[in-house]
Amino acid sequence: MGRDGDHVMSDRNSRVAVITGASSGIGAATARALARDGYRVALLARRADRIHALAAEIGNGAIAIEADVTDRDSLLGAAERVQKELGGADILVNNAGVMLLGPFTAEQREEQRQMVEVNLLGAMTATDTSCQSRRAMKSAPQSILTLNRPRITSLNLTATWYEVFLDQLRDGGGDLVNLSSVAGRTARPGNAAYAATKWGINGWSEALRQELQPGIRVIVIEPGAVATELPEHITHDQTKQAAEKMYESTAIPAQDIAEIIAFAVSRAKRTTINEILVRPTGQAG
Ligand code: NDP
Repeated sequence: MGRDGDHVMSDRNSRVAVITGASSGIGAATARALARDGYRVALLARRADRIHALAAEIGNGAIAIEADVTDRDSLLGAAERVQKELGGADILVNNAGVMLLGPFTAEQREEQRQMVEVNLLGAMTATDTSCQSRRAMKSAPQSILTLNRPRITSLNLTATWYEVFLDQLRDGGGDLVNLSSVAGRTARPGNAAYAATKWGINGWSEALRQELQPGIRVIVIEPGAVATELPEHITHDQTKQAAEKMYESTAIPAQDIAEIIAFAVSRAKRTTINEILVRPTGQAG
């Protein structure tokens, strides 16, 4: 796979990128950017028509896989297809997300839960490691074994190694790119649950960075306002109006974020850009 410590460019044509939430916005732009750079891409999302059209546009072995990140079985099926049809993933971009902003009230309860399910648990599930095998016991760092001793000793040690994309990344030494947000660093009224998911992504990513090094690079992207469908789904009227006004005056194109992701994963393997906070020049907070 050409994964020497010096450079990743030598064997780029055979590398495979899996992008969740590839049917629009940053995910679709990232798929285009990585395909342009020679990656074969697997496009995951619920809107099958969109990802099939994008796969046809991209060509070069791109495949579309209808998958809901809140449904672990559909992700397991997606991982199986990526393994069979593309030979496994070198990059996983955990991008699928929803931003259903609004005050933290009971009326928003379902949306709060949806954000946690998609933005945080969806990314965890797509990556997913259950550590339920002898192999896990052998390969897990001592610190994990110590921390989790009560849980691990009660496991069935012959259990299958259930993983979604992490084992594929491990095979060749891959990149895990997690979409966080400026909201992963700044919380404000109206974004409590959304910010919680993105702060969660940041904490999870930092722990994984340390657990998975040096084999897998973990890269966190924290965009500000980007012109996508994201604010269109907000249901709380007042919040939606304020968000749309802010986006209209400030947001940058999704391609700008896609280029940054493409840049980050093209660095020499010895170097990791751990975290990128990127705002429109005109965005204050
Ligand atoms: P879009 O709404 O354009 O894209 C969101 C993507 O997530 C869609 O492709 C959608 O596909 C997918 N998605 C939503 N729910 C699910 C689900 N249950 N299973 C699988 N896929 C799902 O927004 P963006 O491109 O802006 O968002 C991409 C990421 O960037 C998100 O994580 C977002 O939080 C983050 N971000 C965006 C910012 C912005 O200003 N736009 C700023 C900071 C971060 P489908 O509906 O077809 O399933």
